[in-house]
Amino acid sequence: MSATIISGKTISAKLRQAVKAEADALREQGIVPGLAVILVGNDPASAIYVRNKEKACAECGFYSEKYELPAETSQAELLELIEKLNQDPKVHGILCQLPLPEQISEDAVIRAIRPEKDVDAFHPANVGHIMIGDHDFVPCTPAGVMAMLDECGIDPAGKHCVVVGRSNIVGKPMSMLLLHRHGTVTVCHSRTKDLADVCRSADILVAAVGRAGFITADMVKEGAVVIDVGINRTPEGKVVGDVCTAEVAEKAAWLTPVPGGVGVMTITMLMQNTLKAAKKQAAG
Ligand code: NAP
Repeated sequence: MSATIISGKTISAKLRQAVKAEADALREQGIVPGLAVILVGNDPASAIYVRNKEKACAECGFYSEKYELPAETSQAELLELIEKLNQDPKVHGILCQLPLPEQISEDAVIRAIRPEKDVDAFHPANVGHIMIGDHDFVPCTPAGVMAMLDECGIDPAGKHCVVVGRSNIVGKPMSMLLLHRHGTVTVCHSRTKDLADVCRSADILVAAVGRAGFITADMVKEGAVVIDVGINRTPEGKVVGDVCTAEVAEKAAWLTPVPGGVGVMTITMLMQNTLKAAKKQAAG
């Protein structure tokens, strides 16, 4: 079998057009969706993500603000900025790019962003809504994966969905979204026994590990859907996923590429969340 490649770029282009059309209509009513992005320090990968988020805002006709703070910024200074943005009516969404320098608690920052402006959906209030299934904001990366499945007509209902990784930002919410769509979900992590066996039983396999080439062909069932969330940099500076693409493509029915897969969808979902935040805040 040779897998069909699920292009995040193509799906994103279509979804961003729809976001832009809605943003254009909102502008007629005097509402311009606004996103503030905060970058602390000089992590080169984070700087690229922030630039791509700014570009996406421009593409969708959003207002955007970027704050680039030095690595030695204190937690108090960052929280003060977040509070200012919480109060700013032009800003409907606030995103603080992770990871943060060690003197700043990620948890404190996540909790400081008002849940209505938490377009990353990391605040415990939003996490609770995701668990119950009555959420406004879906965390962007898992939401991007669900949008890719939907675009390809892949229904998780009744399928064995294996998520490798249990982080708060990818693995856990991913498993919850698949469960809401009636998948039978197994979540794996570094202490999972017989991981290859578990992966081989997956109809839908989501890799969110953060290790280049972690998922090899022998871990994949013939005809499976393989979603590669990983973004890893090789020593040569190349960006690769968690999946050994060439060999897995021979076995899987569907496969997402890296780059051009889940990463670009993540930013598109951020645009959708920001649009939703603007509409909700405008409605009071
Ligand atoms: P993370 O917080 O480091 O979590 C990694 C997970 O992988 C953990 O749950 C860990 O298990 C598990 N793991 C590590 N080694 C393992 C092993 N040998 N066997 C089984 N499980 C193992 O990472 P993350 O933030 O979820 O991100 C995961 C990857 O996705 C990274 O490459 C990241 O760059 C990428 N990412 C991509 C996007 C995107 O837009 N495409 C967005 C976010 C993240 P334990 O919990 O037991 O330690």
